[in-house]
This record gives sequence, C-alpha cells and structure tokens, in this order.
Amino acid sequence: RRRPGGISNLLLVVAAASSGGLVAYADSGSDAAVEKPQLPQRKKVVVLGTGWGGTTFLRNLDTRLYDVQVISPRNYFAFTPLLPSVTSGTVEPRSIVEPIRRILEKQKGGEIKFWEAECFKIDPQNKRIHCRSDLGTNLEGNGEFLVDYDYLVVAVGARTNTFNTPGVVENCHFLKEVEDAQKIRRSVMDCFEKASLPFLDEEERKKNLHFVVVGGGPTGVEFAASLHDFVTEDLAKLYPSIQHLVKISLIEAADHILTMFDKRITHFAEDKFGRDGIDVKTGYKVVKVAKDAITMQNPATGDISVPYGMAVWSTGIGTRPFIVEFMKQIGQGNRRVLATDEWLRVLECDGVYAVGDCATINQRRVMEDISEIFKVADKDKSGTLTVKEIQDVLDDIYVRYPQVQLYLKSKQMNGIADLVRSAKGDAEKESVELNIEEFKKALSLVDSQVKFLPATAQVASQQGQYLARCFNKMKDAEEHPEGPIRIRGEGRHRFRPFRYRHLGQFAPLGGEQTAAQLPGDWISIGHSSQWLWYSVYATKQISWRTRMLVVSDWTRRFIFGRDSSCI
Ligand code: FAD
Repeated sequence: RRRPGGISNLLLVVAAASSGGLVAYADSGSDAAVEKPQLPQRKKVVVLGTGWGGTTFLRNLDTRLYDVQVISPRNYFAFTPLLPSVTSGTVEPRSIVEPIRRILEKQKGGEIKFWEAECFKIDPQNKRIHCRSDLGTNLEGNGEFLVDYDYLVVAVGARTNTFNTPGVVENCHFLKEVEDAQKIRRSVMDCFEKASLPFLDEEERKKNLHFVVVGGGPTGVEFAASLHDFVTEDLAKLYPSIQHLVKISLIEAADHILTMFDKRITHFAEDKFGRDGIDVKTGYKVVKVAKDAITMQNPATGDISVPYGMAVWSTGIGTRPFIVEFMKQIGQGNRRVLATDEWLRVLECDGVYAVGDCATINQRRVMEDISEIFKVADKDKSGTLTVKEIQDVLDDIYVRYPQVQLYLKSKQMNGIADLVRSAKGDAEKESVELNIEEFKKALSLVDSQVKFLPATAQVASQQGQYLARCFNKMKDAEEHPEGPIRIRGEGRHRFRPFRYRHLGQFAPLGGEQTAAQLPGDWISIGHSSQWLWYSVYATKQISWRTRMLVVSDWTRRFIFGRDSSCI
C-alpha cells in the first residue's frame, strides 16, 4: 500500500553535491523500500501547471500506469474564458475555479500527488526539476526542493507580454489570472467612487472615469465590451451624476481590432463599438504608461498623451523566464517559444513534453501544410503564382495559422509576398512572382518568431488529451515493439502526430451580442450567437459544481443586475 500524499511526504535528504547544501527532495513514494514491494516499478511523470493543458492531461491519463506528481503555484483550475465576466461581476470568481485536488481525487487508479509550488529550473541532464514553495521552509529556510522525473510534461502557460514598454508593469492591470480579474473589478469601482468625491473638479472626474484597454485582440475586446455593459446597465443607475463623464478607449497598434477573425466580424465589432461610444483607436502604439497618462504614437499624429483612471494591458503573451533559460540550455535560445515535434516532445530533450501556451510545434508539419496549399493553388503547375493567387494562398494560411498574419502585421507587412520582396531586395516591385522555394525561405524567417497554433484553451486541452492518450498506450507499445506494420521501422514514432481540430471561436461584443466564427467559415453575429456562447461555456465547465454556479450567476445577473460592491 502507498502512503497518503501531502507536503508531509517531503523527505529531507542530504543533497546533491551540485547545490552544496541541504535540499528537500519531494518523495513520490515509489522509492520508499518498505512500502512498495507489491507495486511494480512505475515511471515517474511530473506535470508542471494546473491550467488547461495540465489539467486535461491529468483527467485523461490512466494514473494506474504511472507515478504522477503535479506541481503548480495555484491549487485550482481556472476557466479563463470567463475571466472578463469576473471583472464586471457578471460571474463570481469562485464559480470559475475548481480545486485541483478535487479534480485529482476523481481520477480512478493510482494516487496523484500535488505540490503547491513553482518550478524555477529544469535540469534535463539529470532529469530533475528545481521547485520553490512560498508556503513552507526547508532546513535552509528557502522552501526549495527537487523532484526527479522519467517524463516531464511542461504546461506552464505564458505570461503577459509588455514588449518592455516603460511603466506597464507599474501602472497597468493584466487580465491573466483570477486575482487579476478581481483587482480590475475593485479598481473599476474605486474609479467610480473617487470620481464621486465632492472636492474634485470636472477634469479630475473625467480622468478617473477614463478606462483604457490596450490591445484589440479577443481578450481586450471582450473586456471593453463587458465593462461597457457594466457601466451602461448597472453603474449608470447608481452614479447618475457622473455617468456622462465615463469614457472607454480601446487602443490597437494594427489597422483593425480582432484581426484573427473574419473581416465581417472585425467590421461588425468596430461599428458596434462606434455606436456604443467606445473610442476605438487603431494604428496607435502605446509607448509609455505613466501614473496619470498614457502616451501613444501614430505616424500621422506623432506622440499623444491621454490622462486615464484605469488601464488594462492585453497585448499578447510571452515566454516565462525559466522556460527561456531552459530553452537556452537545450539549444533553443534563438527561438521565442519552446519548440516541440508533432508528438509534443520538446526537441533535443529526452523525456520532456510541452503543451499549451508555453510551446509551439516545429514548423515541419506547418511547412507541409503550406506546401500543400501552394500546390493546390498552382493550377497550371508552373511553380509560380500570380498576386491574386498569392493572396488566396495567404488567406488560406491565415485561417489555419492566424499567428502568421499577426506576426506580419506586427512587422508592418501586408503578407508573405511582402516578406519575400524584402528578402529578395525587390521591395519596390508592384507584383511578385513567387515560387515555392522562395515561399518556404520566407516562411522559415517567420518560423523562429511565431507560435503557429493560436494560444487558446482549445489548443492546450486538445494537446493535453492527445498526450494523455499517447502515455496510456506507451507501455503497451514498448512491450510490443513489433506493432502494426504501418508504425514499424526506423525514425517513425509509435503514435499518430498531433492534429489540431479547430472548433470555432467566439468574440462577445456586449449588449447580449456575440460574434461566432465556426468551422467551414460559418459566421454568425448577434443575439442568437450569444445564446450559443452561453450553452457552449456552460457545457464546457469542468464540473457540475462550477456549471451550476456559473448558470446561477448568469440568472442572478438577469434578475438583479451585477453587484457593484467589492468585498
Ligand atoms: P494556463 O491555463 O495558463 O496554465 C498554466 C499553469 O501553469 C497554471 O496552473 C500556472 O499556475 C502554472 N504555472 C505557471 N508557472 C509555473 C511554474 N513556474 N511552475 C509550475 N507551474 C506553473 N482560450 C480559448 O480557447 N477561448 C477563450 O474564450 C479564451 N478566453 C481567454 C480569456 C482570457 C482573459 C485569457 C487570459 C485567456 C483566454 N483564453 C481563451 C486563452 C487560454 O486561457 C489559454 O490559451 C490557456 O489557458 C492555455 O493553457 P495552458 O495550460 O497552456 O496555460
């Protein structure tokens, strides 16, 4: 029988010559000789992260086959698509989180251990990770411990990318975690209360009621929409004397908001926000955030500074610092995102897998897909394409890999044809004859910079599920290496590569209207899509408990409105 888990399970062993001191060792239980004679030796699987990727992996893993340990600084899973609803009080924070121990407890099979700590270093040579917990101290008083693994699943997500813009960390809110959403909610209410104080003049009140959202992607747009709903449907009644002073600005560096969606959705969203009085500033890049004013740049206007009361920064994601260090160790220092192969194995790193926002699949498969698109477009088999055909190819690529388009936009390019022109020094040419080799060369420039699959919960959970299925079959495949003929032989992997199935995406636009872009280029915008959004997100909840809580929050909001108190 195995011992029960828990932090008391930490064995203190004299450590590691490498660290030169006493280091706590997280004991998985499987090394304790007295307790495991009747257990077959199981390989140690360590999972980093309890978000979409990590949790889906764990829920699908046959835990009887492995000795599983989970490490994450948060002891719950959060349903991130509803974070914007938490900022306005439409949904309560508790309703979108599920304790990870409750999720793990439901797993049939072997016991899974959870340590509330963060990993700060991966040591692939010794197959070991270094962790730190804020909750307790070891003999050295620093709460650090080591965990050995046979297989490591890295699912640590990403951090918000500030592009090193001065003042962002100090003065802006992010919207990534449940705590962020709670802080934003409090901050909105503080701005209203501050603007109501008797000794302020009109300008000061206006400043406090100017809410700025930086980033016109799905998160920024949804947040701006939900803030607008909160203000017009609830706060306007509670603060009648200042409601006319409220202003919401949405700032985006590209020419449009929601660029990863179909153009019809982009235009509908921009028109709707215009009608709602949300000031959408496209083509503006924020260059500095001071305590009281945001400075942005536009080629036509130059620098302009606007006073603000609260700012939310939502301009995309970046790699976590310890993953950057890990990438340097394994020869991926020139990349932006941790690269895996199509089986989600980190390149050049034995036993390490990565899923979700922290990883990207190396472009070989992407290149094959793109070559295929190119071949289909090249109807006369001449090996070159006209400008119109190039545009069609690009549209096809952008649908499958929206990140390519975003990258080109961030480089102020209209497409890969532009990239090829500049690579060939033909920047002035009106039209370009593009052959497949030039096309591939141009794309390889993009490869090291871009995360080819979108950073969404959909991708992370499909990857988690895929990886768990591979792990479930791994032992069997090892014991029967002869396998079916199609998977035998040199250089082939035992499992089919990961294939992403895009199930569509939503962009809630406020006023009970949502835009939905579903597979097959099916676009739906309006109230009916809002009901589709409600049903999909109710269905996707991780447990019946959170499903009931979320639905009851929505019902409460319909009947009583949103709660403006912040406790
Ligand atoms: P995460 O879910 O972020 O999980 C990362 C985990 O790693 C966390 O548990 C974290 O605590 C843990 N961790 C962090 N550092 C360490 C460390 N050092 N050691 C160990 N563990 C660590 N996607 C959609 O598909 N649809 C949507 O509608 C949608 N809406 C969104 C709205 C918002 C506001 C946000 C922020 C995201 C939204 N997303 C949406 C994106 C989606 O949330 C992410 O793509 C998804 O969470 C990625 O999953 P992940 O497992 O890679 O990372």
